[in-house]
Amino acid sequence: MFQGRGVEIKTPEQIAIMRQAGLVVGRTLELMRSRAEPGMTTAALDALAEEHIRDSGAVPSFKNYHGFPASLCVSVGDEVVHGIPGDRHLLEGDVVSIDCGAIVDGWHGDAAITFGLGTLDPATDDLITVCENALWAGLAATRVGGRLSDVSAAVESLVRSRGDLGIVEDYVGHGIGSAMHQPPNVPNYGRPGKGPRLVRGMALAVEPMITLGSPQTRVLADDWTVVTADGLAAAHFEHTVTPTDTGVWVLTALDGGRERLAAMGVPFGGVE
Ligand code: MG
Ligand code: MG
Repeated sequence: MFQGRGVEIKTPEQIAIMRQAGLVVGRTLELMRSRAEPGMTTAALDALAEEHIRDSGAVPSFKNYHGFPASLCVSVGDEVVHGIPGDRHLLEGDVVSIDCGAIVDGWHGDAAITFGLGTLDPATDDLITVCENALWAGLAATRVGGRLSDVSAAVESLVRSRGDLGIVEDYVGHGIGSAMHQPPNVPNYGRPGKGPRLVRGMALAVEPMITLGSPQTRVLADDWTVVTADGLAAAHFEHTVTPTDTGVWVLTALDGGRERLAAMGVPFGGVE
């Protein structure tokens, strides 16, 4: 069923299938975090991910999406998003962002993590922490009765409170459900109290992209890889989330978001 402005409203049964897709994505990302090491190619990570997704009974949603050749986006260093896995070898000190999507019975999950290999300089470490905290601020604002831009404003305000980091505006989060990308767009900036009202059955992919320097980006000649225009590092975190009558359910978090939401005083709204 579609609400106004093309926003798809899911039944509880459909959300339950999205949770299954979300768990596949969450487990795949944890596998990537545990297996990534200096010397490994990004293509090797992608092969592991695809095998894990298919062995879980799911389909990697990125593969062949508008011609994208892999199951993961792996974006290293100054790459913000949409890096294509290949023969690049990971190095000690790299900032690695991994984005993953999976489909179960036609329903999608989409999430991303960023981590450092070995020891990072403190500013880059902080960039990663701020980006993840900004994601959770946005997730916590995904409440029935609120408005879409409350999520955007929560992300922006967390980043702004943590100093002089860039918020990428060229790419945004999105609705998700029977397709990976649906209305509405979910920018990582804006004033609260605007846009569609958040209702039960909506699902959003919230995904801040934060930079150490300027938020300006450009696309490499491969037509996919987005890099920072100034060559400084970027971080990217994402979860698929749904507001429920009892709170917030983070469909791609292994614990549904229980622990982080509790730490923020936000009720967990999952049905599990
Ligand atoms: Mg994604
Ligand atoms: Mg996404």
